[in-house]
Amino acid sequence: MSTFLGMPVTAPRGVGHLRGDQSFPDAAREALGNAQLRRNLRHATTTIRGKSGRVIAELPDWQELRDAGSAIKADAMARLPELLEQLETRVAEAGGVVHWAADANEANAIVTDLVRRTGSDRVIKVKSMATQEIGLNEALEAAGITPVETDLAELIVQLGDDKPSHILVPAIHRNRSEIREIFLRAMPGVDPALTDDPPVLAAAARRYLRETFLSTKVAVSGANFAIADTGTLGVVESEGNGRMCLTLPDTLITVMGIEKVLPTWQDLEVFLQLLPRASTGERMNPYTTMWTGVTPGDGPQNFHLVLLDNGRSAVLSDPAGRSALHCIRCSACLNVCPVYERTGGHSYGSVYPGPIGAVLSPQLTGVADNASLPYASSLCGACFDACPVKIDIPSMLVHLRNKVPHGRAERAAMAAAAYTMDRPKLYASAQRAAKLARILGRRGRGLPPPLSGWTAGRDLPEFPKQTFRDWWAQREQP
Ligand code: SF4
Repeated sequence: MSTFLGMPVTAPRGVGHLRGDQSFPDAAREALGNAQLRRNLRHATTTIRGKSGRVIAELPDWQELRDAGSAIKADAMARLPELLEQLETRVAEAGGVVHWAADANEANAIVTDLVRRTGSDRVIKVKSMATQEIGLNEALEAAGITPVETDLAELIVQLGDDKPSHILVPAIHRNRSEIREIFLRAMPGVDPALTDDPPVLAAAARRYLRETFLSTKVAVSGANFAIADTGTLGVVESEGNGRMCLTLPDTLITVMGIEKVLPTWQDLEVFLQLLPRASTGERMNPYTTMWTGVTPGDGPQNFHLVLLDNGRSAVLSDPAGRSALHCIRCSACLNVCPVYERTGGHSYGSVYPGPIGAVLSPQLTGVADNASLPYASSLCGACFDACPVKIDIPSMLVHLRNKVPHGRAERAAMAAAAYTMDRPKLYASAQRAAKLARILGRRGRGLPPPLSGWTAGRDLPEFPKQTFRDWWAQREQP
């Protein structure tokens, strides 16, 4: 059982399973058959990669910034309880109210109750991974409250009755003609003569959202950062929709994963350089909104901060996996991942797709429930190189593979291999026996059952004519 600041908590809710009981390989196989999806993904990830690479190359101290980001996060995780209590005190001093949610059910109940108490039956939302993780929209809808996503890509996903497939670009799997069809079908008051010209599509969303911003009294947001020593919350975004949600309503409710806390205001200097360059390929975020509690006569007059655990304490207790909590959700690891580029986000079955999803989802909700995800990687290491806070995702994937429950046959095969490799003479005999495989299966042909599953999706490599041991024994001495 996980704990929340030393208290036992119930198991976290699944992080929004999107593919039912399908394993990653099955879901990926389906996605690979969708040529349009693959074209959309290739175009989008190639474009973001190129942009990001160019602005990162402008900074001579990028590697030092990565080291600093990694060190600040490690320090924050090492004293998380202390920082969270400091944050709570500062937020309360500034007129906000802090709520603690051990799991998704508790967080959803807190937010639903807060909205009900305002008398509003609609909320506007800033794009937030934490609220997706807990299924807040579904919980609000069940309580008769309409959540309206205001980030353009999230709005496309919501109107299309779809699921996000990328952390930063949730509608990355949609092209503009698909978006036009969604708007025509589901956007209230849309012009029937709508074209698929991107500025025309953006203008249609803008018209719809303006009216909603001005008539909704409650907003729900996530947070990119929280500063413990000032009680300040921060959201970075590109469209200005976040700024509208964070300033116009009477009541603001922020749901934030507990790992987002940073010790000091000065730490932002590092993250506000790392995040935009690694994520959208911009030198700075177009909109950076910071707020501390409430200010009379300016902005929301009621502020609630919901601090969400939902499995994070359990991740923190694993020394080999805890650095997954350093993630700043930039999505750089998705954009460089050859597996993600081909399969898209839905195959991962979680709101956290790509390499970070392959480690975070099993950690948050249990390896047994996500047994195929640690294998959704070629371990090429591109994610590690791209990560602005230097999370060693490949090592974590290997660590999680060791925790996946394996079948009896596989366990027996691995035990036999370990026994053989421990005994040099036996190993040499096994190598000689393995030459038999050249007769049983040749390059381009699969191995016979029961090993045929291994060669169903990969070529059998050519066996060398001579083993290393034979070569070593026969080599000419200097
Ligand atoms: S793991 Fe690193 S690269 Fe991936 S989303 Fe998180 S911070 Fe970005």
